Amino acid sequence: MPPSQAAPRVGKGFNGNGKGSNLARIRGPVCRLCRREGMKLFLKGDRCFSEKCAVEKRRFAPGQHGKRRTKVQGYGIQLREKQKVKRIYGMLENQFRLVYQKAVRSRGVTGEVLLQMLERRLDNVVLKLGFASSRWQARQIISHGHIRVNGRKVDIPSYGVKAGDVITLRDRIRKNAFLLAAVEHTRGIPEWLSLDADALKGTVVSLPVRESITLPIQEQMIIELYSK
Ligand code: SF4
Repeated sequence: MPPSQAAPRVGKGFNGNGKGSNLARIRGPVCRLCRREGMKLFLKGDRCFSEKCAVEKRRFAPGQHGKRRTKVQGYGIQLREKQKVKRIYGMLENQFRLVYQKAVRSRGVTGEVLLQMLERRLDNVVLKLGFASSRWQARQIISHGHIRVNGRKVDIPSYGVKAGDVITLRDRIRKNAFLLAAVEHTRGIPEWLSLDADALKGTVVSLPVRESITLPIQEQMIIELYSK
């Protein structure tokens, strides 16, 4: 397979001091993932809102045959929907399948429970509150121990927040220039969260409901795919 067609690699991230971090991540050109799904997945922070966004510049799928028109049907639609959601939340297949299985075992409509579980992830909440400009940055802040939930350190990005939880930052990072810039550029906090920007304090007002998740996701397709 020529390099231009190679799928993005998955591996351990690096944390700036040359040592591998424990976070599994998709390495390689992530903008290709957005182009493959034909929509912005917002994987690169501020760049996604600029004219440099690859989806804006090249509105076709990556690779040699990217400009060909292909009709996606049945299984293809289900697969693309699952891949899209996985990529939005930065998850690998096994992690995503585990969340799905947990959703199946939970009460309620499986698709909605699945999305709610994904939204409740601490890395997602940190990103939505504007404490980080990208999901990857949110995971780093969490895994480096900078996030407090109800005053206690939580360094697990997949931690599921509950209604009433208060998210704050460790004192050491509160004056970090990147963090302050990210908070300043926070874009639209969902109604199930609230932010006190001066105190750098976020609160989970309620659990997210399906209507508050505005991403164009057809969760039923994912359920159909995994139910086969
Ligand atoms: Fe996707 Fe952001 Fe890259 Fe645009 S800039 S293609 S939204 S990751």
